[in-house]
Amino acid sequence: MELKLFNTMGRQLSTFVPIREGKVGMYACGLTVYNYAHIGNLRSYVFEDIVRKALEYCGYQVRHVMNVTDVGHLTGDADEGEDKMVKSSRETGRTVWEIAEFYTKAFFRDFSLLRCSMPTVVCKATDHIQDMIDLISIIEAKGFTYSAGGNLYFDISRFPDYGKLALLDQQELRAGARVEVDQGKRNPFDFALWFTRSKFEHQVMLWDSPWGRGYPGWHIECSAMSMKYLGEHFDIHCGGIDHVPVHHTNEIAQSEAATGRTWVNYWMHGEFLLMGHDKMAKSAGNFLTLSSLTDKGYDPLDFRYFCLGAHYRTQLAFSFEGLDAARTSRQGLMERMAQIRGESSQTDEQPAGKALEYLNDFETHLADDLNMPRCLADLWTLLRDTEVPAAQKLAVALRMDSVFDLGLGHAKEEQLTLDDEAKALLEERRMARRAGNFKRSDEIRNILRGRGIEVQDSPQGQKVRFAAGQRMEKTVTSEDDRC
Ligand SMILES: [Zn+2]
Repeated sequence: MELKLFNTMGRQLSTFVPIREGKVGMYACGLTVYNYAHIGNLRSYVFEDIVRKALEYCGYQVRHVMNVTDVGHLTGDADEGEDKMVKSSRETGRTVWEIAEFYTKAFFRDFSLLRCSMPTVVCKATDHIQDMIDLISIIEAKGFTYSAGGNLYFDISRFPDYGKLALLDQQELRAGARVEVDQGKRNPFDFALWFTRSKFEHQVMLWDSPWGRGYPGWHIECSAMSMKYLGEHFDIHCGGIDHVPVHHTNEIAQSEAATGRTWVNYWMHGEFLLMGHDKMAKSAGNFLTLSSLTDKGYDPLDFRYFCLGAHYRTQLAFSFEGLDAARTSRQGLMERMAQIRGESSQTDEQPAGKALEYLNDFETHLADDLNMPRCLADLWTLLRDTEVPAAQKLAVALRMDSVFDLGLGHAKEEQLTLDDEAKALLEERRMARRAGNFKRSDEIRNILRGRGIEVQDSPQGQKVRFAAGQRMEKTVTSEDDRC
């Protein structure tokens, strides 16, 4: 199966061809660990997880590398403002190292709650200072740098391809149209490789280097660590679309200046999650975390489903109505899967006939730049088709779920242990419905709801599950209630 992916470099769809047969090297920019990830950040990680799982679905062995930024990322991406870690430390009274550890753990907890596969390599910036110094030394030896005001800068005028990813206008670059904030720079688009004279008195993370005691600029970590773990030329680099004009542009300039060749073949970027009309951002103060959703009773996978409902290259507006709809759909999927499991436990059926057609549709839509909304629609059509046998549905749905990863394999029809009183109420309700006494039937439904038990009527009888936004873990059906 051939995947067509949208490459930000060149702005076109192209067939994915790996550098080494059967293998993919993939780098994803990780989080700056000075605060919790917001759900806009998490949308990017879900997107990258889908990229990885789609590649694995196609049979590739994926080496997935992700960094953790624990030094050098200023509040502005272009060297302006102050170090985010230092700021957070001052505001909370904790050390930068404590903050980094705390938010790194919190981030990976969210990551696994969303069923994102752990990267093959997770690398911390502070563990790779020497690699960054080595890379900067190469860039310096090749004549791409200058020192000013105590800092070492990358000179973009020495790199003619500067801005090719973001299609930055060359004239504008020469004129230096951006607001000047750093007096040491010859051109405002030049960027720091190493800060030796800190603008900030409270910087506590400092290392010795050939340019003096200091700390690295933000962009250099991704170049140094990706090349260390994936080589000087690798397949895919992903991240949020906000990284295109500055961070990824600067990563490319310094990496290709160092090696003199193409660094990455495919650039993939996930679009924003919007709050109202604005990008969700910590700086704008309009952000939600995953735990703020779970505190309201949502399952983390409701958010995963919500993300899959939009193509990764389209902006997605967050709303609780949208999240509610995702929750209802996801729970519906789990219930159907549980039902199918009740009818067949075979998962190794070879798809044939109509089931195979649905699987082919799914693969066509997956191959078309990872069109998740269409892929989800294929799953629903399969599950609703009454002509496809349960064993076939189960086998195909589980194959599809190796990409969605909504945990469909965990949907089970188990017996819910009800106490005698609840059983008696259910029986009374069944008799009331049979007698046409719907008033009493509704009363009993409310009594049970008050005890955390939700009753639904289906053609198979009364179905019972734990109420109010809980993951559907158990269902029981009282068989002979057919009115
Ligand atoms: Zn990066």
